[in-house]
Amino acid sequence: MMNPVVENRQNEPVGWRGNMIRFRSAQTWVAMCFLCVLFPVASRAGDPTGSGIIFPRAFFIAVDDMGWNQGSSLGDTGGPWRAGVRREFDVRDYQAVVDLGRAVGMRLQGVFLLAEMDREGIVGQYATATQAGAAFDNSANVDDTQLKVMQYVQENAAYLEFGLHGTGHEHWENGIRTRAEWYDLENDKPWPEQDSRGHVELFKRIMAQYGLTPANGQSFPESYVPCAYGYYWNPTGDFSTGKILAQNGVKYGNTNFRYITELNPPLELGGGFDQGLLMIQRNNYGNEWFDLSALPTAPIDSFKTDIIETHWPNLLAQDDFLQEGVTQEWVTLLREIQARPDRYLAKNTEQFSSQWLYTHFTTVTEPEPGRVIIDNSAMPNEAYEHELLGNLVLAVPLKEGEHIAEARLGEVLVPAYLEAAGFGYLYLPPLEDKTYELNYSVGRKALTEHVEHTGTYNVYALKKLKKRLEIDLEMYGTQVVPVVGVKKPRDVASSNEHLKVLSYDYDRKTKTVKIEIQGRDIQGERGRISLSF
Ligand SMILES: [Zn+2]
Repeated sequence: MMNPVVENRQNEPVGWRGNMIRFRSAQTWVAMCFLCVLFPVASRAGDPTGSGIIFPRAFFIAVDDMGWNQGSSLGDTGGPWRAGVRREFDVRDYQAVVDLGRAVGMRLQGVFLLAEMDREGIVGQYATATQAGAAFDNSANVDDTQLKVMQYVQENAAYLEFGLHGTGHEHWENGIRTRAEWYDLENDKPWPEQDSRGHVELFKRIMAQYGLTPANGQSFPESYVPCAYGYYWNPTGDFSTGKILAQNGVKYGNTNFRYITELNPPLELGGGFDQGLLMIQRNNYGNEWFDLSALPTAPIDSFKTDIIETHWPNLLAQDDFLQEGVTQEWVTLLREIQARPDRYLAKNTEQFSSQWLYTHFTTVTEPEPGRVIIDNSAMPNEAYEHELLGNLVLAVPLKEGEHIAEARLGEVLVPAYLEAAGFGYLYLPPLEDKTYELNYSVGRKALTEHVEHTGTYNVYALKKLKKRLEIDLEMYGTQVVPVVGVKKPRDVASSNEHLKVLSYDYDRKTKTVKIEIQGRDIQGERGRISLSF
């Protein structure tokens, strides 16, 4: 939830500076190459009538404060504000998020609080996690609803990410609350390192109560939103929240740095690395943390950050019969964003975070139509050290009946492609820190041999061998992967026993094989799918 105590620190738009940096670097590139006629891509973004390559900004939302069993605020009596709605949560409240993700082809980032999910009475061992401290008693919440919810979350990893928010959201000492769980916002200082490590351990132990353990092939969350945006940013110090979380497997965070200006976070760039964790700035655009069925009130044009703030109640209706209408309003908003030439909907957190890195550190130019130079040599090393990079996404506006007919990155095939809202989207493999040339053409003919990127998985590479096609991918949950422009395969197999090919089906007319694949780790299961011909 947002922070009533420090509300004087405004949520002002800050992301534009990052875009200016990108714009400048493209212009510098143009100035250097004075002999050739260049089309600086960054300057074209926003021109819907143009043709040629677009380097769009990714768009994403995080859904804060999931995981509470009870929604009602205890803020007035020294407890957590929880979701700010008087409600007992159950599977239907998670299904609303999953239905939205499915409708728009996104794996939405849910960030969870687990104190009320404790079924074994262990929260009391962590004195600062709740108002009651050692006397915390969760027995009133222990029932089948919890089991059904966590089962549902696991089964729907395709559309809802299980991310980290915290345990009890605030910090308590002897029943006295201080905001917030990961940083002391009231006195501008970090909590002791052991306190934060303890809260991570508690989160992990509650996950284990639902079978989410390394022994079961389940990883710790990759995504994080600090409670009340209180976060110990300290990239070069002995410890930081980022360091503790990265050591546990967290890779991507989003927050509003304006709550911790005393730590000099990278407001200018709109994001940065903190000891293995990539933190990206996000703003609020009018939807309050406690508002049911609330969309941003500011127009899309004013979204300066690539990720925007939402809270669970924003996606929920006050009653079941109204839910479909609320979900539809969010679908409409997201589709409007997808239809903008300079924006697109990221499939998942990794894809969103990667594109943020690329749009800040990579230049894309089109010296002649169909020949694109991608200079990724300025990508910081941290992106590689901590394996933060995934696909780079480029778009091409298409007229009625047109397709991207051919696309190659050097000698390599473009592994995934999707047509949506009048654009063809190319999902390039994760880039190394060097310069690439992409060649493509637009025509009536459809692109052959690619994954049609309708799902929320990541497709990293597509390799064509003599009698085989190999797809390197990371699966979330169970999804169908359409492979287009191929002959009927003799066999489809996986290199990873936990990345299962459940079935496949070939359609001669569209030359498409639809492969149903299940990944075990809800945080992503990677492997190689081989089609033999
Ligand atoms: Zn929160």
